[in-house]
Amino acid sequence: MTQKPLFDKILIANRGEIALRILRACREMGIKTVAIHSTADADSMHVRLADESVCIGPAPSKDSYLNMAAILSAADITGADAIHPGVGFLSENATFARMVEEHGKVFIGPTPEHIDMMGDKITAKKTMIELGVPVVPGSDGGIQDEEIAVETAKKIGFPVLIKATSGGGGKGMKVARSADEVPQAYKLARAEAKANFGNDEVYMERYLGKPRHIEVQVLADQYGNAINLGERDCSIQRRHQKIWEEAPSPALNAKIRAELGQVVNKAIAKMGYRGVGTLEFLYENGEFFFMEMNTRIQVEHPITELVTGVDLVKEQIKVAAGQKLQLTQDDIKINGHAIECRINAENAETFIPSPGEITRYHAPGGWGVRVDSHMYQGYRVPPHYDSLVAKLVVYGHDRSECISRVESALREYVIDGIDTIIPLHQKLAKETDIVAGDYDIHWLEKKLKSH
Ligand code: ADP
Repeated sequence: MTQKPLFDKILIANRGEIALRILRACREMGIKTVAIHSTADADSMHVRLADESVCIGPAPSKDSYLNMAAILSAADITGADAIHPGVGFLSENATFARMVEEHGKVFIGPTPEHIDMMGDKITAKKTMIELGVPVVPGSDGGIQDEEIAVETAKKIGFPVLIKATSGGGGKGMKVARSADEVPQAYKLARAEAKANFGNDEVYMERYLGKPRHIEVQVLADQYGNAINLGERDCSIQRRHQKIWEEAPSPALNAKIRAELGQVVNKAIAKMGYRGVGTLEFLYENGEFFFMEMNTRIQVEHPITELVTGVDLVKEQIKVAAGQKLQLTQDDIKINGHAIECRINAENAETFIPSPGEITRYHAPGGWGVRVDSHMYQGYRVPPHYDSLVAKLVVYGHDRSECISRVESALREYVIDGIDTIIPLHQKLAKETDIVAGDYDIHWLEKKLKSH
């Protein structure tokens, strides 16, 4: 079968390390690139390396990276035929995906219908139940008032977690450990949901005590072919945000992996999903519970790339261009082990953001060490955006080699002028529980409190 042609020119609607990651994939595929940037990012690496660039507004995200009209104009002016939204910003915005399509351009992601379906977490859970995927036990839908909240919590059993229907980034989540705590948690969750997502609807789930966060990477084309590329274990979290991720999970074996993979492949194919995506699960006492699906490439995708040898961004671009998947499930073999340390520009103890100028920079290297970062000496980390400034992604033939290599790479990494959480990662790499692979989603918070 002759494949559909790839795009001529892609506009990258993002910034930072992910914009660079996409730019590199485009260049290798012979696709021209357009960078967009705010005034604060004029000196950014993605702007320097792109074939063309357009300034689309002032520093605040809402006036630049979230400014749909400005981004579409930039695509028109430069004649880009597709838009890659990256992660965050407009990557899960169905309205934007629709606007891109109405402009006669391709949104590099799933259909707006699938984004909508998974963006509403209640609909996402209902859909997964229908597709035969087990979900976290909880309320049937949104919870409209305090009284119903108390009743529902009693039915589910304590502790419960109240979550924002349109939530993301760990925001709008509150735990209630008894009936007395429900009204307050309910009010707070709603207020946080309203402030962050403009939608105050919340739902409720059983709050699991010792789960691991295990997510499955999927890849599908528009012809009904769906495969998975194994799992990532993202249990090391602070404030429900991932810090350190591993592939494969130290807690799964080949049999469990294959079983979960089959359930996931079937659901994705049945949905008619196209693109890359991630199904997030909690895993406790041998049971998986679906939490949500991310309909985009994820920050932690490189660890999957290292253990499977598949370039996920290239595959994403190919299926968005309407090409048929060349990979089958049998082609996917998990080899060795990979770990990603998210390097945030934050103080390693207080987690206070630390923007500013990088006065000295030296990235680690060597066999199996990949650094995805837009930093360079003299670069100024602006205060307006996410604090992620680099991803240290390390491969080893097995987990123990991988952890030693993480330690050694962290020791080489020099970032002066700002604080980063490298010292935290250095400690993590030496922790007995981490070395043993014995941790759950609450492990890091408990550890930080005990110091
Ligand atoms: P977000 O979209 O905000 O990231 P998620 O639903 O993915 O929200 O949850 C983020 C994190 O919160 C999970 O990785 C997990 O650590 C924790 N979490 C979510 N649901 C539950 C639950 N029912 N019980 C315990 N922890 C949970």
